[in-house]
Formats: sequence, structure tokens, C-alpha cells
Amino acid sequence: MTEWEYAKKIIETIEYHGGEAYIVGGAVRDYVLGSLPDDIDLATSLFPEEVMTLFPKSVPTGIEHGTVTVILNHHPFEVTTFRSEGSYSDSRRPDHVALGVSLEEDLLRRDFTMNAMAFHDGQVVDLFGGQHDLEERIIRTVGSPYERFGEDALRIMRALRFMSQLDFTLHEELRHAANRLGHRLEHIAMERIAIEFEKLLTGPAYRRALGEMIELGIHHYLPNVSTELMRCVQEDVRTPVNAVSGWALFIYHAKDEDWLLPWKRSNTIKREARTLARLCEVGLDTMTVYLTDEHTLSTYFRMNGESDRSHELKQSLPMKSRKEMMFNGRDALELGARGETIKHLLADLEQRVVLQEVPNHETVLKEEAKRWLQRAGVS
Ligand code: ATP
Ligand code: MG
Repeated sequence: MTEWEYAKKIIETIEYHGGEAYIVGGAVRDYVLGSLPDDIDLATSLFPEEVMTLFPKSVPTGIEHGTVTVILNHHPFEVTTFRSEGSYSDSRRPDHVALGVSLEEDLLRRDFTMNAMAFHDGQVVDLFGGQHDLEERIIRTVGSPYERFGEDALRIMRALRFMSQLDFTLHEELRHAANRLGHRLEHIAMERIAIEFEKLLTGPAYRRALGEMIELGIHHYLPNVSTELMRCVQEDVRTPVNAVSGWALFIYHAKDEDWLLPWKRSNTIKREARTLARLCEVGLDTMTVYLTDEHTLSTYFRMNGESDRSHELKQSLPMKSRKEMMFNGRDALELGARGETIKHLLADLEQRVVLQEVPNHETVLKEEAKRWLQRAGVS
């Protein structure tokens, strides 16, 4: 059974117990576009507690806004009770959400017409012209963009990332509203902005979306971003093939290793992006290849549009890490070295082994070490 068929099973079960249920959001958009959705979300008239009693494998993943994750044959489905959102006094979160409203109200709270459709029984429920906008390749808010961006400014970032992912155009009124209300992004949590920005950077039309962002002045509300920096990334011949490579281009052009700090990304993303930026800076010299993990090297090839030689390059090195060196700290101690001197000696030998100036051979390295220590005045 496909995921879509499992979703239908969920709908049937809910209806059998007197509720209503629909496939909603991105999955319906993707269905109309003829592409496969990443994941399928459902909306229902039942309350979360009722959903949980109907499906033995379900997890209350967001009970306060009505969401239960139902697992069917290892597939997770988010099932959310129809809800509407009260007023937004802070451009960020609704003051309250109301459960137990109609499908229509649930669709009304959604961001864009293409994301505000529902699917049921082979039919698309399309109250705001989502199918028409998909056909025209236009992103349009449900209702006034001024109002919708005023409620939640993250939607401005979402509009730009969908523009990039789908290669669509922003509706003219939406553009004006984004331009006028962009400053409200300052109220939005950085993590949420960063996630949308990563999706923008890795979308097929990211150059157009970055251009639109500059034109609407949205980049002024992102940390460490100048117009010039945006242009550099936009015009760079390399392509962000994943979030890390997108960030790497910013770090590289900003010439600032700490550029990513205010974006609140994970330590792994920060470390990999920094490494990749360094690769962009110095290219594939032997020592950099040695110090870079194979996964990041592979990303480097892909972002340059080259065939992936990461594995061969790694294989061609005389060793993979210092652990493989036939001379270690204990050997250095035996030769009378102490503390910092050991550190410097090992780093020097390591570099010369990697660059194949000396073979990785026990007796050779020991002789090299003795000479090094003599020069350093240790023995
Ligand atoms: P993707 O395929 O990238 O996941 P998606 O449309 O599923 O795209 P999500 O962020 O997963 O996007 O959101 C699911 C749905 O929830 C959207 O399609 C939209 O209907 C609604 N939604 C999400 N974020 C907002 C928001 N900030 N304001 C209004 N509606 C939103
Ligand atoms: Mg989704």
C-alpha cells in the first residue's frame, strides 16, 4: 500500500466512528502538482483524545494545538483537529487556538491558497482558488497579505522559500505586503527563520528567490546579511546542494568563520559549513583533504557540479588520521619530549607524513623525531 492509501485508511476509520477527516496542506498541493509529497498531514473534526483511542499506535506530538501522530505500518501521519487561530498580538503566535471548528475555518487559517486545500474521496476541496494559483504558478495568501503577514511574519520567509522550491512568482499585493511588513521578522524565533531560509537556499529557483528577497528588502532583517553578500551568493557558480553548502557560501563570501553564530544552527551544521567554506577558500590541497571528512568533501564536489572524487582522494592519502601514524605521544615521551613540545613535534611529523615528505614508518619517524628534538634543543 502507498502512503496515500494508508492516509485513506485513517480517513475511513475516523468516518466509521462518526468524524470527518481530510488530507490537507502540502500533500494536497503536491498531489495537484503531480509530485509525491514528503509526508501526509490530515485534519479531522475529532479531538486528539478521540483520535488516540481509534489508533493504538499514536503519539501526542503536539496535543496543545491538536496534533496526534498516528503510525500505520511504520508510516507517521500527523492528524490535527480542525482549528482556528485567535488574534495575534505579537506577529508570532496566536493568542489562543480554538479546536473543534469547521474544515472551512481550518483552511482559512492556512498561509497560501496552494496550501489551503483539502482532499477527500477523490475530490479536491478548494475554497480559495488554490488550483488556479498553482496553474498560474503564483503564490498568494489566503486573504489580505497585510493581515496574514501581520499575524505571522514567518509567512514572508515561507512565501520566498516556496518561490524557490516551486519556481513560482509572488503575487503583486503579497510583494507589497512583504516589503512593508518585513521588519516584523525581528519578532520571529531565529531557528524558524533559518529553517525556511535553508529550504529557500536548496530550492531549484534559489537565485530568483534571493533576488526577490533583495528587491523586497527582506534580507535586512536577517543576521549578518548585506545586499552585497546576498549578491555574491546569488552569483556564485557553486550551487547549494544541501543546507550546509548554502551556509558555507555565506561564510566564504563574508570571510567570517563566525558568520553563522546568530542563526542558531546545530554544532554539526556550524562545523561542517565552516569546513566547507574553508575548502571553497583554499581548494583541494592535500592537507585540507586530509583534515576534511569524506562526507563534507563529497558535498564540495557536488556543489561544484563535479563528479564525486572524495573517496579516491581520501584513499590516496598515506594515512586517514593521526591515530595511524607510526609515532605517537608515548614515543615522543621516551625521547625526552614534554608538554607543548610533544604537540608541536607530532603536528610537524603528521604534516610531513601526509605530504609524503617522510614515509609512515616506525624507525624513519623515530629518527626524524630525534633530529627535530635536537633542533628544538630538547636532547
Ligand atoms: P513541505 O512539503 O515543505 O513540508 P508544507 O506545505 O507541508 O511543505 P509545512 O511547513 O509542513 O509545509 O506546513 C504544513 C501546512 O501547515 C502548510 O501547507 C500550511 O497549510 C500550514 N502552515 C504551516 N505554517 C504555516 C504558517 N506559518 N501560517 C499558516 N499556515 C501554515
Ligand atoms: Mg509538511
